[in-house]
Amino acid sequence: MLNILKFVKNAGQLEQQLVLQPGERLEGLISEPVDCALQMHGTQDAAGKPFLVGHVQAKLVTDCQVCMEKIKVNFDFNFELYPVNSKKAEDLNDDQEPLITEDGDVDIKDLVINELILALPSVLTHEVLTEEDCSKHQIMRAGEVVEQKKRSPFEVLKQLKSDDFNS
Ligand SMILES: [Zn+2]
Repeated sequence: MLNILKFVKNAGQLEQQLVLQPGERLEGLISEPVDCALQMHGTQDAAGKPFLVGHVQAKLVTDCQVCMEKIKVNFDFNFELYPVNSKKAEDLNDDQEPLITEDGDVDIKDLVINELILALPSVLTHEVLTEEDCSKHQIMRAGEVVEQKKRSPFEVLKQLKSDDFNS
C-alpha cells in the first residue's frame, strides 16, 4: 500500500517491477504472467494541483483474437491521474482523470491493472499490437489441421485392423 495523496503532494518518485497474473480482471486480456516496469512520480499542474505521472513497460503475452496464436509484445503506456477524495473530484476539469481515494491508500498493483485495462486496445490482434499480418500464423494452423485430417483415417484403419486380429 502506498499513500498516493502524500506521494503526489511530496513529489514522490517510485520505480518498481511487478508481475501481473492472468485471470480475474485480466481474464482474456493476458494469457501468461506479464512483467511490468513501473515508473511514477508526483508533480503539480499549472494551477498547483498535485497529480501523478506514470509510465509502464509491460512484456505482454496475449492471444490474438483473429488467429488465436500467442502475441508477445512490449507494450508501453503512460498515465496521468489526480488522486483526490470524492468531494474534491468535483473540482477537477473534464480532462483531468481522477483517482478517487478517501484515505489515500492505494494498492500499486491494482493501479497498474486499472491503467493497463484502460490502455489496451479494445481488440487484441497481431495487426493492432504488432502490425503483423495474421495470415502467416493462420496458414501455419491450416497446415497443421490438414495434416491431422490426413493422418487420422489411417490411424483409425490401423486401429480397426488390430481390433480384428484381437477378436
Ligand atoms: Zn493473429
